[in-house]
Amino acid sequence: MESYSISSPLRVAIVGCGPKGFYSLERLCHELSTLSSKQKVEITLFEPTGYPASGAVYDPKQPHYLRMNFASRHVDAWLREETEIDAAYPQPTFVQWLKKQYPLFSDPDGFAPRALVGEYLYWCYQQVALHLPERVTLRWKRDKVIDIVRQKTAWTVLSENGQTNDFDEVLISTGHGGWHAAANSRQLPTALHLTSIDCIFPTEEKLSESAVPPDAKTAICGFGLSCMDAILALTEGRGGTFHCEDHRWSYQPNGQEPSVILPFSRTGRPMLAKPIPACVCLPTTINSVWQAGRNQLRQMATQSQTTQFKESLWPVILQTAKNAFWIIEDRPESAQDECNPVADWFEHWIQTEADDQASHAALKQSYRVATGQTLPDEAWALGETWRQLYPALIECVNHGKLAEAEWEEFHLIAREMERIAFGPPAENVGRILALIELGIVDLSGLRGHLRTTKHYATIITQTFRCEVDCLINAIIPASNDHSPDSLLGKLLERGALRKMPGAGGIEVDPAARPLNAKGETMQGLAVLGRPTEGCILGNDTLNRRLHTLPSEWAKQIAEKTASQKEPCVVH
Ligand SMILES: Cc1cc2nc3c(=O)[nH]c(=O)nc-3n(C[C@H](O)[C@H](O)[C@H](O)COP(=O)(O)OP(=O)(O)OC[C@H]3O[C@@H](n4cnc5c(N)ncnc54)[C@H](O)[C@@H]3O)c2cc1C
Repeated sequence: MESYSISSPLRVAIVGCGPKGFYSLERLCHELSTLSSKQKVEITLFEPTGYPASGAVYDPKQPHYLRMNFASRHVDAWLREETEIDAAYPQPTFVQWLKKQYPLFSDPDGFAPRALVGEYLYWCYQQVALHLPERVTLRWKRDKVIDIVRQKTAWTVLSENGQTNDFDEVLISTGHGGWHAAANSRQLPTALHLTSIDCIFPTEEKLSESAVPPDAKTAICGFGLSCMDAILALTEGRGGTFHCEDHRWSYQPNGQEPSVILPFSRTGRPMLAKPIPACVCLPTTINSVWQAGRNQLRQMATQSQTTQFKESLWPVILQTAKNAFWIIEDRPESAQDECNPVADWFEHWIQTEADDQASHAALKQSYRVATGQTLPDEAWALGETWRQLYPALIECVNHGKLAEAEWEEFHLIAREMERIAFGPPAENVGRILALIELGIVDLSGLRGHLRTTKHYATIITQTFRCEVDCLINAIIPASNDHSPDSLLGKLLERGALRKMPGAGGIEVDPAARPLNAKGETMQGLAVLGRPTEGCILGNDTLNRRLHTLPSEWAKQIAEKTASQKEPCVVH
């Protein structure tokens, strides 16, 4: 461990202060307040947006039609460990905060606007900044960092405005890296009469009426969550209104929408609606099914050095889903072992490239299940199993636990499970279904491709063709898509970081310390969040309880200050 004198402060930089940067800051302040040491600590945040803790994804100024992807009851900026129940200042959950600030949005099962989550996170940041431990100073630089370079005893952080600052510890939590276009947009087709939009965020700017004029025939590349955000920006964001009665959504256009919106994607498979827990009636016995599945996975994680996905973990998931499905179907014991309808359903799902009708039918069915209009089906059983077993799955996969050769198969299935388990809230699926019914969203070109001539661009399938005026890329950059001139791209290029073989994400230890190209742990540096995806599973989330890296990092830093010796006093 490097040595610091207690007379000079420990200089800590947090580069990128979205939710994860904030969680790390909060943990560090907590650890520093509980450990007794006189060592001063200077923390500097580098965050270019106007709101530390909310960052770009939860920008409080974004329009309210951009909603959360999970229910408000799951949003909580505080860790609430048993030992720290008596907090020194107010630490409300999101729902408690909403009850005071925005009572109309305070339904725990509601999907609040992302802007409100951003306001809440920023408020939480202000509480931490107001209640710093005595030996801590905090400053926020509204700068983008463009490079971090190792010097002999420190790390030099270089900002876009040309400033350099030295630090003993640097944590990189740049998440999505701010809004930027995905690698695939570099090959977006061009034509004289086609406007191409490489990225949908911020929607107010990228999808404004001047960018996508009313009446434009508009193609959207990608049929995931960002596609839904884009569709809502082009309809509700243009002043149209949605109404819901008895789980049936309708839309009142206001004339400013594109004449037609045509999503298209590689597989055509949609993201299924996330069930509303209060609407899906489940027997309590089902909890023992989830518990048994979790136990089995955890046993595998502890019993062997590495885990196998296709042969070990996946069969447990399928079997658990089958057990859950039979409970819902109320089938007698004897019928239970004959086949696995959930496995059969998944096999069919993954083998089939969905055309417009199949995709529409899957969306409708998932909406009906999610809202309790029909009994849970095989897709629900598999999605719910994935959600319920996910924390245990993380333990089987993280930090290279999953054998390197298993990653290709794992990626394939995990990508599919994103569609099945982590889709949009049911209400957004309801809105999209209303737009399909009105013909504003048309799935006819779903499995199509875009053909361009010098002048025109056309969406074409075997049975459908439509000339389009605008093309919107609604694919967000992959977690390991680091261009060579980006901050992480440069660190990777110089060998200060490396990607985990198979998994693909930046390799870190449990305290977020990265390994360099030689496999050595990099002291004084840490990387958290989305860029480590794969080495750490599912960490692009607001959920604080799935991963302990910010806590472990903070403990290490605090211990560093506690181990400093008092300077000798010479008389
Ligand atoms: C459209 C969208 C919707 C989502 N919805 C949900 C949801 O409903 N629920 C959920 O759990 N998760 C959701 N997510 C995932 C979301 O990314 C995480 O919840 C969360 O934002 C991760 O936090 P983070 O701090 O790791 O990354 P980010 O939120 O991306 O924050 C990173 C921060 O780093 C800053 N930064 C980037 N580059 C630099 C640089 N070079 N120098 C200095 N600062 C920099 C950025 O300004 C940003 O503030 C969504 C993601 C997207 C893109």
